[in-house]
Amino acid sequence: MGKVYNWQLGREMAYPFEEAHPKRQVAWVFDTNKCIACQTCTIACKMTWTSGRGQEYMFWNNVETKPYGSYPTAWDLAVLEKIGPGRWEQGVYRGRTIFEAADGQAERIAGVLPKDEDWAHPNLGEDEITGGTMPRGAHIDRLPHPVWFFYLPRICNHCTYPACLAACPRQAIYKREEDGVVLIDQSRCRGYRECVKACPYGKPMFRPNHETSEKCVGCYPKLEKGLQTQCVEQCIGKIRGQGFVSDPRGKIREDHPIDYLVHVRKVALPLYPQFGTGPNVYYIPPIHVPPPYLHQMFGPGVEHAIETYRNARQDETLAGLLQLFGSSPEIMDRFEVKDGVARAWDQQGIQVAEVPLVEPPQMRPAYDEKRKVYRLDVT
Ligand code: SF4
Ligand code: SF4
Repeated sequence: MGKVYNWQLGREMAYPFEEAHPKRQVAWVFDTNKCIACQTCTIACKMTWTSGRGQEYMFWNNVETKPYGSYPTAWDLAVLEKIGPGRWEQGVYRGRTIFEAADGQAERIAGVLPKDEDWAHPNLGEDEITGGTMPRGAHIDRLPHPVWFFYLPRICNHCTYPACLAACPRQAIYKREEDGVVLIDQSRCRGYRECVKACPYGKPMFRPNHETSEKCVGCYPKLEKGLQTQCVEQCIGKIRGQGFVSDPRGKIREDHPIDYLVHVRKVALPLYPQFGTGPNVYYIPPIHVPPPYLHQMFGPGVEHAIETYRNARQDETLAGLLQLFGSSPEIMDRFEVKDGVARAWDQQGIQVAEVPLVEPPQMRPAYDEKRKVYRLDVT
């Protein structure tokens, strides 16, 4: 085992390989407060990548309802049980990652291989609230809510320290130097399913008719053209932003959308950082969910993230940046919020988005002279 520094844990950790990083690391920010579980992202991904025979059950992008939803079934509970209890002390994780919880003999990674039936219920627990039902006549007038659920959209995290890659006995999995995308080389894969077992997020999936494993490819043909992935571009709720994230040990860019949300304002947090893989999908946590549940899921920065997000109305830069989500198919490399307008530029320095913070109201006359009719809706 080598030693690597995992900034999400605030410490060094054991990893089967020495420290190595791509030139750039692709990353996403998902705002859970805006997701409506319309599953447009899921279908956009499925139509693009997994509509073939043997891929029927595959959802490289899925959206599950927490706390009861999970696909494959109980993927997160199974891994949490395997690594055992842990705690955070002043931003440092004191507990075992999936690499440190392995027995070191039969397994290099403490993984869980989902059973066939675990892939049978992608909509398990959908829209179920905690506590079962809302009492008749009840209303919710405070935060966090006493009964709750929220939607958690999930893709492969294109991790900094991928467990799938570390587990593959064929070295069929690699992390691209140019963008950090993690891919399975189909010509090398023999379908041993070690990656399916090792990934703590349940994201590699076995394709029986090809006898190989497959996973989210980060829409790399689009990335190469400077375009955002299908799940980001098609998102109805405009909850998703995508770009490249800096390693906080290097230079952080305040004018970069992802760096700003992850490192500067720390409003977007990694999913289950304690697993140790360094996931690169960052989540703005839901403001209505009790923090103890969110601590386990997103680590110790939850209160700060929620407070920052709730203050966004008085925070022009943050509000403007969030407004830019979903306003351009191009990857945004730089942003600026000035005089009530948010603007973004792509990697070539071409402006790709311009959004006002407040939409000016448009009024139409109540009587339409041309059509000789009255309007009910004039705004
Ligand atoms: S398309 Fe966007 S809003 Fe709809 S489910 Fe996916 S992430 Fe949520
Ligand atoms: S989320 Fe899983 S499949 Fe994706 S890179 Fe990380 S360990 Fe590999």
